[in-house]
Amino acid sequence: MNASQGCRHHPRPPPSGQKILPPREENQAPRVVVPNQNDPDGGPTEYQYQSEELQTPPGSDSEDENPVFPQHNPDTKFGKIRLELGMEFGTMQQFKDEIRNYSIQMGREAFFLKVEPHRCRVICYNETCPWEVYCARRNQPPSYQIKTLVDEHTCPRSNRSRSVTCKWVSEELIGKIRICPNLSQKDARDMFKVEFDICVGERMMFRAMEKAKDVIEGTEREQYLMLRTYLNELRKANPGSSCHMGTTPQPEGLPKFRSLYICLDACKRGFKQGCRPFICLDGAFLKGYFGGQLLTAVAQDANNHLFPVAYGVVDAETKKIGKNSLNICWQI
Ligand SMILES: [Zn+2]
Repeated sequence: MNASQGCRHHPRPPPSGQKILPPREENQAPRVVVPNQNDPDGGPTEYQYQSEELQTPPGSDSEDENPVFPQHNPDTKFGKIRLELGMEFGTMQQFKDEIRNYSIQMGREAFFLKVEPHRCRVICYNETCPWEVYCARRNQPPSYQIKTLVDEHTCPRSNRSRSVTCKWVSEELIGKIRICPNLSQKDARDMFKVEFDICVGERMMFRAMEKAKDVIEGTEREQYLMLRTYLNELRKANPGSSCHMGTTPQPEGLPKFRSLYICLDACKRGFKQGCRPFICLDGAFLKGYFGGQLLTAVAQDANNHLFPVAYGVVDAETKKIGKNSLNICWQI
């Protein structure tokens, strides 16, 4: 469309020349200076608002126009989660997570009847139960709001909810395992029974603990990738240590781990200065995904206590690898 055919032909009005000056005395409104166009001398006219109404902060009269709805708090502790009509959520995922936590807290099972990017309807798994929540996107302000809420269950409470998924259990376990790294499966199941009043099956707990440990410790594959950096740090922190890693080159991709040997400098000096000249070799199978064997060289100190001298990891205990290990040990 041609700009000349539009309706914006009005000339731009000249600037008014208004100036806002600070008040002469405290507790007074600012002064507004306006040039007087009709005055031949062009002297400015000064106004000063005295009304208290104009000093009212903007927006205080508009509270009734924009009602404040309850806001979702993601940090609400389990057991104190509440749903309210009109409650606003930042994202749809937050709403779904909260519904899952709420149904677990209530000992019921939520069924996601309709899940779309902008709206979601959740009902109770029990067909005769009237419980229902409907959430839809709101444009102003942008949020996801509960439009319908029938917060009443007629179904019985159960401690084996379908809302308890392996992902949810592993997310709850992450914080617990960080505090208590040696948490056993039985203790974890007892803890869920006491804290959440739910029974988690053995298989689900096993998978959830594996997932949680992967998040905390990183997967085993990622840990093997960090071995070279770890050995470099060992050499920096313990000068004089012997650290060797054997790898098998691969035609495509990263080299494959084969063996590892570590003898710290402090262990070397301790063996030379305070131990009997006798070394015992021992080995144990590694139970991880990649397997292998852990070999250790142990001496005996003056108190007849075991003194670790060196340790290493090999794929199998064979004569060939044993010979190589001994060659390295001779470096002590
Ligand atoms: Zn129900």
